[in-house]
Amino acid sequence: MDFYPQPLQRLIDEFSKLPGIGTKTAQRLAFYVLKMDEDSVKSLSESIVNAKKDIKYCSICGNLTDADPCSICRNDARDKSTICVVQEAKDILPMEKTREYQGLYHVLHGSISPLEGIGPDSINIKSLVSRITPEVKEVILATNSNVEGEATAMYIARLLKPMGVKVTRIAHGIPVGGDIEYTDEVTLGKALEGRREIL
Ligand SMILES: [Zn+2]
Repeated sequence: MDFYPQPLQRLIDEFSKLPGIGTKTAQRLAFYVLKMDEDSVKSLSESIVNAKKDIKYCSICGNLTDADPCSICRNDARDKSTICVVQEAKDILPMEKTREYQGLYHVLHGSISPLEGIGPDSINIKSLVSRITPEVKEVILATNSNVEGEATAMYIARLLKPMGVKVTRIAHGIPVGGDIEYTDEVTLGKALEGRREIL
């Protein structure tokens, strides 16, 4: 039998399903919600429902957006000759923060991982290939610096090179096993600057 009244227990259970939230933290959040005034609770719950309802994937690059195409794909000032490939939509923000990059993006929504049964067809690679027009001069592979990220970069490089496009990989400096998401903008800016062509 649960120790807490059922509605409270349910809230704790829901919080516990979130990544990085253990039982203790879930309890703390649930008790915090109970102390919030009703308007704030309404605003919180509406923001969750609306985010889920209104946010979709950009049909061109796979970025998260509330309007399709996304603001980056729509922006005429962006350099259409370069596409930076990242694993997740959340990797775009740190790249933008470097202020070094003016091109477009392509979000894979994952990485190739044979151990987890994730093959090339399970991630957003086909749509990347279809974006390689003569206008595109360079594809920068900014996948994570771990086994899956490297394997994904190599796979894409082999796929795109015969199409005559320059394929580069961001330089090291990003710690091995490091996620783009957690790399500071100075390190990431340097890694971008020092990118090397995959031959
Ligand atoms: Zn887009």
